[in-house]
Amino acid sequence: MNHLSNSLAAVDIATTLHPYTDARAHEVNGPLVIARGEGVHVYDQAGKEYIEGLAGLWSVAVGFSEPRLVQAARRQMEQLPYYHSFAHKAHEPSIRLAEKLVEMTPAPLTRVFYTSSGSEANDTVVKLIWYMNNALGRTKKKKFLARIKGYHGITVASGSLTGLPNNHRDFDLPAIPVHHLTCPHFYRFGAEGESENDFTARLLAEAEDVILREGPETIAGFIGEPLMAAGGVMPPPAGYWQGIEALCRKYDILLIADEVINGFGRLGSSFGAVHYGFTPDVMVLSKQLTSSYMPLAAVLFTEEIYQAVADNSARIGTFGHGFTASGHPVATAVALENLAIIEERDLIGNAHRMGKLLQEGLAGFADHPFVGEVRGAGLIAGLELVADKQSRRTFSCGCRPHLQGISER
Ligand code: PMP
Repeated sequence: MNHLSNSLAAVDIATTLHPYTDARAHEVNGPLVIARGEGVHVYDQAGKEYIEGLAGLWSVAVGFSEPRLVQAARRQMEQLPYYHSFAHKAHEPSIRLAEKLVEMTPAPLTRVFYTSSGSEANDTVVKLIWYMNNALGRTKKKKFLARIKGYHGITVASGSLTGLPNNHRDFDLPAIPVHHLTCPHFYRFGAEGESENDFTARLLAEAEDVILREGPETIAGFIGEPLMAAGGVMPPPAGYWQGIEALCRKYDILLIADEVINGFGRLGSSFGAVHYGFTPDVMVLSKQLTSSYMPLAAVLFTEEIYQAVADNSARIGTFGHGFTASGHPVATAVALENLAIIEERDLIGNAHRMGKLLQEGLAGFADHPFVGEVRGAGLIAGLELVADKQSRRTFSCGCRPHLQGISER
């Protein structure tokens, strides 16, 4: 069956602008309409089965069609399908989830703010830190450090933190003060003859130079994915995070771990920051938080940030930030059940064990003439394909795969 003759596909082509899709190619090729999912598989309208190797967008931790998540959503839908959390309102699932997240994440994170997406969460991080610094009278401390090829979302602030050309060019971004440091990917950004340790030292020196040039009193935060994911699955070089953490402490810069993909076991450890052994002041969580069955993200932050924000909001009467769906009861109820399943089934331990097999298996491709590098941690991996191993030249075939994934930006 030609999928273009399918009426759903025709309506889709006629009506929808797809995210991260070449619109003109879509008019010709149409969508792949997925009809249902089960475990690690999804099925199209004709019943054809696909292995969902990316787990959606790195998000379906417990697999598709988990009945317990369906029941959790249904129960909450029947009891209280919606309520907000503005102006002192609250409901049990969001309270219980905040308690759980504070318990699960490493100290010193004690406070939670909810959004519906990773992008909104990173916008919240920017605004929270700006607000805190205004409250503390540090009105110049507003700039962020991020990395080339980092991915933090696509809204105006989070898209500015993202360090990928397609997210900036033609969107007039960055729109907030952000400096993108060298991407910490040794294979691509290491200099000829440089060791991995020298590479780390060079990146740390670069970061310190930028801080000193701009003035530490102007730098509010450093944001990074512990293991860079959407920009190309790039684990950091040895010692990188310890060095960045030391710089943040030295110059009073908040360290933000964007764990939207890394969090809840993707790397075979609970969180990316735990995996690489550093302590963030702010952690951003989403995706595997609900297995993406419901849109939800959470910003975890320290008591110190909370106290400054709370003092100021008491002074002016309110903290003027929040979303209609912040802490949505159905989303937070699903998250609680999802986290219970992750714990009961030891999915983080499983990711560690299966991740070892995955990484070892993929390492076998390293000798292939078109594989430049095999890399990853736990259940996230990348093979970098090159046309020439010696020069590391990439293929530039200009091909546009129909099933373009987010990693192919
Ligand atoms: N941060 C990271 C690390 C991400 O990978 C993503 C999405 N892939 C985001 C933020 C943005 O999340 P969302 O798409 O939910 O806005």
